[in-house]
Amino acid sequence: MLRARDLWIDEKARRAGYENGAALASAHGVKPYRIDQLYRAAAKELVADLEAITTLPKELRTALGATGFALDAVEPVVIQRSSDGQTTKGLFRLHDGNEVEAVLMEHHGGRTTVCISSQAGCAYACTFCSTGQAGFTRNLSATEIFDQARYFATQLARAGRRITNVVFMGMGEPFAAYDEVMGAVALLNDPQGFGLGHRHITISTVGLVDKIDRFADEHTQVNLAISLHAPTDATRSKLMPVNRKWSTEALLGAVARYIDKTHRKVFFEYVMLAGVNDGDEHARDLARLMQGPLYHVNLIPYNSTPDAALRGSEERRIWEFAKILEQHGVGVTVRTPMGRDIAAACGQLRAETQPRAKAS
Ligand code: SAH
Repeated sequence: MLRARDLWIDEKARRAGYENGAALASAHGVKPYRIDQLYRAAAKELVADLEAITTLPKELRTALGATGFALDAVEPVVIQRSSDGQTTKGLFRLHDGNEVEAVLMEHHGGRTTVCISSQAGCAYACTFCSTGQAGFTRNLSATEIFDQARYFATQLARAGRRITNVVFMGMGEPFAAYDEVMGAVALLNDPQGFGLGHRHITISTVGLVDKIDRFADEHTQVNLAISLHAPTDATRSKLMPVNRKWSTEALLGAVARYIDKTHRKVFFEYVMLAGVNDGDEHARDLARLMQGPLYHVNLIPYNSTPDAALRGSEERRIWEFAKILEQHGVGVTVRTPMGRDIAAACGQLRAETQPRAKAS
């Protein structure tokens, strides 16, 4: 069983030059409970930095600081807010100079969702996605992923508010960084720490069949979303190169096994592209693939990206498409785009993934 606290402290300790958390504690001549205090302050009490952890002796804080020990593995570089104030995008720098983006969405009604990145860049090259066009650099570590959520949580905590949902829909393919993402889920969920329920977490995948099978065996209540985007191989392969490895049929087979095992609802994401996948026949084909009440379609209005020669469907077409699905008894919702003015909407995240020093 993965212990979130150990995962967090060992990774932070390694970055400060120690073998693990235990080595850090003994090097500083402190009992392990001091390390627990450190973790609790960061993950549960959401203090901003080491200096603010007043339950720790001042000398220990100073000594740890001198080793380069930091609570956060990600450093906010640019924070932007949308004009309606509902969306905040953060650009974060990692220790090696790579950068990723994460987005906070403050919905009407009090729900607050953080969309986090699992990789610097992405190897899957979906034609409509900005991250995919920029190429792949590396997986993030569990705490680099978790700390994006921690950043926004510390900001919200100052106003007495908290994060209610976390979605792995930022940069990268979460299932290609499977172990790191599961580590981040353990950190998000830890009742001794961040304490976010599994049902408030969603992982979105391009459709890595072997990982969907593995995920089904985790027996977790974490939600699964599948980026389907087309009901046939011909169209899906054009949009998503991953479809040449795992066909639509193979993907839906994995989903059926997942549903058999978990009895959990699966969310199918479908970006609406004018003249590409938004016809009546596509809606009917899609309806045929959706095998009952546990198959839910989420239509996503296309958000423009710098390179793609694609156009989003008109709003009216999106609702007509939804109507056809409904007429076939398929559960469907239309996603409200947020943060387009700061390029923070789905598919628009594209941090520089190379060290800044090299870029300039
Ligand atoms: N790699 C994961 C997470 C990616 S982002 C995945 O593919 O699921 C989350 C969602 O945004 C995915 O469904 C993705 O296909 C979608 N998306 C990507 N580019 C988009 C764009 N330009 N407009 C709207 N949605 C987009």
